[in-house]
Amino acid sequence: MECRICGCRKSEVIYKGIIRDGSFGNYTKNDVEMHQCLDCGAIYHENSRDAQFYESSEYRQKMGEEADDYASLHDKEVLEKLTITGTDIFRDKTIADIGCGGGSFLDFVAGAASQVLGIEPTEAYRKKLEKRGYHMYAYMEDALKDFEGSVDVIVSFDVIEHVEDPRRFMEECYSLCRKGGRIIIGTPTEQPVMRIALGEEYDRFLFSTQHLWVLNKESLRLSAELAGFRNIEIKYRQRYGLGNLVSWLKYRKPMGNVSCPYISEHVSKGWTADTEERGMADYIVAYAEK
Ligand SMILES: [Zn+2]
Repeated sequence: MECRICGCRKSEVIYKGIIRDGSFGNYTKNDVEMHQCLDCGAIYHENSRDAQFYESSEYRQKMGEEADDYASLHDKEVLEKLTITGTDIFRDKTIADIGCGGGSFLDFVAGAASQVLGIEPTEAYRKKLEKRGYHMYAYMEDALKDFEGSVDVIVSFDVIEHVEDPRRFMEECYSLCRKGGRIIIGTPTEQPVMRIALGEEYDRFLFSTQHLWVLNKESLRLSAELAGFRNIEIKYRQRYGLGNLVSWLKYRKPMGNVSCPYISEHVSKGWTADTEERGMADYIVAYAEK
């Protein structure tokens, strides 16, 4: 198999077994091989998704969400996203959110922005957000007809791992961006801490049918670089605290950001900062300019 990011034909099978299919607790019937590119380090599997899968509400249902309760599930995630983007880059700018879902993030930046674009294959969300005055498109290639070379800031969280071709995703971001514009692209990464602590139990969760890719620092950087972006910086973020790891070990399931009476805030924050500093965190973000 050829790596779609760097073109390398050599890969190593790093996992073979059932993988997550939708939300936690749902798995494939058959074993899936996960390959890691020996050059750029991207992890991928062959099962590519039909793009139309994301247009239906089946995908969202599979992930345990419906159009009506999107805000109650996702508004709370906006604060974390704003700590990634900062709040000083949106004023009087054209902002695009690629894979905006029900628009929680866009709602919070729309007041500062001059105009707002959302890219979202799920039709139910698009219709809802069009009513709010956002320019909505199913795919980036549709948005290019109206906004090529004119977007100041592109943000995208938890999307690039779903696309068949991350390099093409970055190229489309590049086409959409104006000269001097910037991108902020976040994606879950392989987290060595969790893989060491939980072994295959974590692998079955990390690898999933919906995530065609698990990118690392190098493969995310390379995707942006090959698309033409410059001044690329990749930062690690730890989204889930020490309470999640410890509780997972106890209850054998992901617990989210729970607090444990025996882990102080101080210790949890220290652990989070440590995983980020050592490049062992669960999330990476690419910052780059056109
Ligand atoms: Zn590669």
